[in-house]
Amino acid sequence: MAALKTIPLWTDQFPRPADLPVATAVPDVVDVAIVGSGYTGLNAARVLVQNGATVAVLERETIGWGASSRNGGMATPGIKQSIQVIFRQYGRSLGRQFWQASLEAIDLIDQIVREEQLDCDWFRPGHVALAVKPTHFEQMRHKAAWMARELGHKTKLLTPSDLKGEIGSDLFYGGLADDYSGGIHPAKYVFGLARAVAQQGAYLCEHTAVSRITKLPTGYQLHTSQGILTAKEVIVATNGYTDRLLPQLKPRIFPVGSYIIVTEPLPPDLQQELSPKKRMFYDSKWFINYFRLTPDGRMLWGGRNNLSTTLDLRESAHILRRQLVHTFPQLANVAITHSWTGKLGITFDLMPHIGRIDGIHYALGYGGHGVSIATYVGTEIGLILAGKKSSSPFAEIPHPTRFFYRNRPWFIPLAAMYYRFLDKVT
Ligand SMILES: Cc1cc2nc3c(=O)[nH]c(=O)nc-3n(C[C@H](O)[C@H](O)[C@H](O)COP(=O)(O)OP(=O)(O)OC[C@H]3O[C@@H](n4cnc5c(N)ncnc54)[C@H](O)[C@@H]3O)c2cc1C
Repeated sequence: MAALKTIPLWTDQFPRPADLPVATAVPDVVDVAIVGSGYTGLNAARVLVQNGATVAVLERETIGWGASSRNGGMATPGIKQSIQVIFRQYGRSLGRQFWQASLEAIDLIDQIVREEQLDCDWFRPGHVALAVKPTHFEQMRHKAAWMARELGHKTKLLTPSDLKGEIGSDLFYGGLADDYSGGIHPAKYVFGLARAVAQQGAYLCEHTAVSRITKLPTGYQLHTSQGILTAKEVIVATNGYTDRLLPQLKPRIFPVGSYIIVTEPLPPDLQQELSPKKRMFYDSKWFINYFRLTPDGRMLWGGRNNLSTTLDLRESAHILRRQLVHTFPQLANVAITHSWTGKLGITFDLMPHIGRIDGIHYALGYGGHGVSIATYVGTEIGLILAGKKSSSPFAEIPHPTRFFYRNRPWFIPLAAMYYRFLDKVT
């Protein structure tokens, strides 16, 4: 059996293209400097160059190195915070705007893929949320009725016998299907986007860590590992990899590790048995598991393990494989080929945010919804800076921190214990 690879399947299959048109040096002056080269940074860059701005995307590692080349590639409606909580917290009108944004975010991927002619295995098979307890199925029933009433959004409640046409597993007490969702090859998407943006004139600067931003009478000076750059505007798009570049931003977002394994490619009849409609799936646990078939017919299985960002990837593979086989006993003898991790950016209100600190713009906080929401929020902040939009719902809500968090997210093990407790009792 081949050795387990501890790199993402996506970049193993589709590494950063050798001919990606990256800049040979950091430019001296641009209109907009963007820190971070994931979906947020690149989509902001796309809109800005299309509106005539000069743009530099500054990336500490290589282009797309963060979560944008490591994720599950599942684009589903909604944002990290439950839509019902959002309605309670922000009211009906803003709540509807957030929901609508989450749908438009998925349609926006359609549009970008079409306009930039990206070859990234994007398709819209829909998803099924799966109930791990009978009570969760009852909650899904209420949620489906609520979404139809409040949002006009159609989903389909699936009884355990309906599920037989959706998934080759007997583990679940029902599910909720939503045909809106899509799936993508994350690395093909991020590298395709990067190529498009560079071809339209953006400077892509790799191995360029930004360590300090100082304010000038007009604009900003960015101190990077490759020299100094002056920009009229700055966007920080570092999500789960946010460091202390902006000391007031750090306490507003914390990293959580998400872990993924994939199997070897499965025979077509087994793929058909496990997922006849090639849906995206996630379950109803607090410690959520998400899974799907990859474009080349492997089963991808993701989860949060213990929320930490530093779990050993072999140990993580062992834990995730146990869950995978519990769900799909058919995969007991199938080899796991890759195990990897990446960091999600979580905010205390579980909402994405567009904001400003000392005039410096930022956009982040997607939880596990960044495939579509980072695409959308990156585009929104680009449009705002280009003067094409005056605001966005994600810029209209306060961005909270907590008094107990400055730098080190010491509370994550406690949160993990609490989630485990909730998984037992709710
Ligand atoms: C394992 C995993 C599975 C996931 N699955 C899904 C999924 O199925 N569906 C979904 O919707 N979302 C998923 N997500 C979330 C999604 O991938 C992210 O929300 C999204 O990619 C965030 O994009 P971004 O551009 O904001 O940040 P990132 O792609 O993380 O990019 C941030 C970049 O900033 C760079 N950076 C940080 N600091 C500096 C600095 N000082 N100077 C220069 N560069 C800097 C980093 O090197 C990094 O490359 C998953 C995430 C992970 C980790």
